[in-house]
Amino acid sequence: MGSLFHRIRTSLAARALPVAVLVAGVIVSGYAGMARFDHAEAQRIAERTDAAEDYLFLLRHRLDLYTGASRDLAALFSASDAIAAAEFSEFVAASRVFERFDGIRAFGYLPRVPAAEAARFEADMRRRVPGFHLVGRRPGAHDYYPMAYGEHAFDPDRMKQLLGVDFAAFPERSAAMREAAGRDEPVATRRMPAILDQQRRAIVQIYSPVHTPGQGNGPLKGFVFSTMYLDRMFSGFDNGRMARQFDLEIYDGSVARGNVVFDAANAARALDEARHGRAAHRATLVFSHRTWLVHFYAKPGLADNGPAHAAALFAMAGTLLSLIAAWTAAAWPRYRARRRAMHDLRERFAGFFEHHPFAVYAIDARRRFVHANHQMLKELGVERHQLLGTLADEYVGIEDRAEVGRHLSDALAGQAVAYTARIADAAGRMADMSIVLIPMSTGDQVTQVLGFAENITERKEAERALYASRQMLQLILDNIPQSVFWKNADSVYEGGNRALLADAGLATDAELIGKTDFDLHWKDRAAHYRQMDLEVMQSGVPRMRMQALDRGIDGTERWVETSKIPLKDDAGNMAGVLAVTEDITARKYMEQELFRRAHHDPLTGLPNRGYFNSQLDQAVARAQRQGALALMYFDIDRFKLINDTHGHDVGDDVIRMFADRVRGVVREADFVARLGGDEFVLVAEGLQGPQAATVIGQKIIATMASPFQLGTATLQVTTSIGIALFEAGMTSRTLIRAADQAMYDAKRAGRDCFRVAPSGWDQGAA
Ligand code: GH3
Ligand code: MG
Repeated sequence: MGSLFHRIRTSLAARALPVAVLVAGVIVSGYAGMARFDHAEAQRIAERTDAAEDYLFLLRHRLDLYTGASRDLAALFSASDAIAAAEFSEFVAASRVFERFDGIRAFGYLPRVPAAEAARFEADMRRRVPGFHLVGRRPGAHDYYPMAYGEHAFDPDRMKQLLGVDFAAFPERSAAMREAAGRDEPVATRRMPAILDQQRRAIVQIYSPVHTPGQGNGPLKGFVFSTMYLDRMFSGFDNGRMARQFDLEIYDGSVARGNVVFDAANAARALDEARHGRAAHRATLVFSHRTWLVHFYAKPGLADNGPAHAAALFAMAGTLLSLIAAWTAAAWPRYRARRRAMHDLRERFAGFFEHHPFAVYAIDARRRFVHANHQMLKELGVERHQLLGTLADEYVGIEDRAEVGRHLSDALAGQAVAYTARIADAAGRMADMSIVLIPMSTGDQVTQVLGFAENITERKEAERALYASRQMLQLILDNIPQSVFWKNADSVYEGGNRALLADAGLATDAELIGKTDFDLHWKDRAAHYRQMDLEVMQSGVPRMRMQALDRGIDGTERWVETSKIPLKDDAGNMAGVLAVTEDITARKYMEQELFRRAHHDPLTGLPNRGYFNSQLDQAVARAQRQGALALMYFDIDRFKLINDTHGHDVGDDVIRMFADRVRGVVREADFVARLGGDEFVLVAEGLQGPQAATVIGQKIIATMASPFQLGTATLQVTTSIGIALFEAGMTSRTLIRAADQAMYDAKRAGRDCFRVAPSGWDQGAA
């Protein structure tokens, strides 16, 4: 009994050291594991915040573009008195708005119709849209806002169903309209269902006020609205990156059940964070005067277990190391003996490699460390005696272990190998190593493998950071509507964003890189582009906002605006060009449209008074130098009677037909304008003698002789014409007076005739 007790005691004493090492190691590993957990958790939160902010940046940018598109369209309507459905759809097509912003699905125009004018408006519309009528009139309303025309991204029937529907009858819509009118700014609605939609899809609309053209902002004429389907708005533009990490919840104004704008997981977590946990990130987004509260909930999944996983691994590795350390302590006496035997070899190894900047070590055929230089011990954070004799695999990160084992087997089989691996030092810190193994043989037997390892952790980390920032830049570039590309000094493409690839009809940038403009569908303009690249590179001066007519991949003509900036390399040498191009067809169209509208009369399409005045001034200036000039004033006879008998609409039709007949008899070069009411004017230059002017007068009178057929009514329309011929010294004013006076004479002479102003016009009278 006594001897058994003694044996246990001696055996415990012999094992005291390894047991103590093991216990201490396990405790330290546990602590290290917890510290590791905290660190990984903090890192994960920072990464999530970055991802959420990246996403918000893109979303804000998109929403601003949506508001801008709505505002542009409202500007077009504000600029004009009469936009027809065809022009509206041309504008929408030219702006390619549906392709560029896939969140927007529809646009429409809602004119303001005072209740008293409802019948007239319906009659007007019916001439263009058979069967048009106002739907959903509210009793007692002052104004209606019916849809006069609309465009949908792919469902034209939907817009037809909505024609005539009074949008102000819907409380969310009329609230946004009132606010938009008050602020004179685009305003977005709350989340609401689409009108007449069986599936009751959720949408948000932006209302932009439209004013009658005039000094400053004239009275409110109506609204332009654009519609966004919410299921498409928050995904699909960031390659699904956000949706992989988060469930998004968005609330309008404040977090409440009725204010949900979007709820990806349909979980309404923000309403009860006590139960569901806090959002990983929150932000406020202001868009068209709505305030949206955005909550990002991290998706449960692998990422969540990351820190716990890492910490467990870490603690396990620590425990393993503790076991090894305990085992080493137990085997201590054996090592001392072996160390003495290897003394000789170590001396030589030390001489060659001790101060080598790389970690240098030797492994024997049993895969154990037999030598290690100073740098190796430093990398692994161990003492020499702790390392020597241990298995080489133990310091390799778990995920690399199998592969590194194979490399070592290859080296032991006589093959030199090179690879990179993640190595864990004694404290569990990981490092990236670039390793070369060289087999060393005596006779034909590989007895040892010599290893050289370089720590490349910092280089790797820098590469990873660079890669991440490149990805972000690419994401931004791919989400802007402009095309961006860069070429080298030989005008060879080195990269481009998604918009540029779409312009070029290519799927990936691998298809672009290495090509020149001569290889792309715009090759007929390649020489010109090359010339421009050279100019920019040789001068070192950017060329901004060059406009040109271009052809898209589908052959349609379009206006583009290009800026080119020279690129220099580190040494300051010209290295290429960076270019940004933008499709400005819609803007150009708008400029031309605005010019046309400002200078023409909407009823007849003829030039208006302002345009006439400027043309006459130029014609008079030309006539001062040489050439003949005639000015004719003419006016419909007894037009008031037509209005009074047949109504204003028939009067308008008469004016239109009258203008068409005049256009039919004058020359291409003659300038005909409508001054207003039933008054017209004609400027004729380069006439052969005074009789030529009277011939034109006769022709105009003659072309009115056949009756005007207007529905069931047949009308006889005549005109009285005053003709003035330019004489030296006359100005625009005196010429106009003479023509006006002559017309008055024709009226007095009984109408349906022309009179020529007497020559020798008295300038003093002007
Ligand atoms: P006169 O032979 O002396 O020219 O007689 P008139 O009745 O034609 O008289 P006047 O030219 O002075 O009248 C023009 C009328 O045209 C006055 C106005 O009510 C009407 N009017 C003005 N602008 C428009 C318009 O855009 N559409 C219609 N339908 N009528 C207009
Ligand atoms: Mg008249």
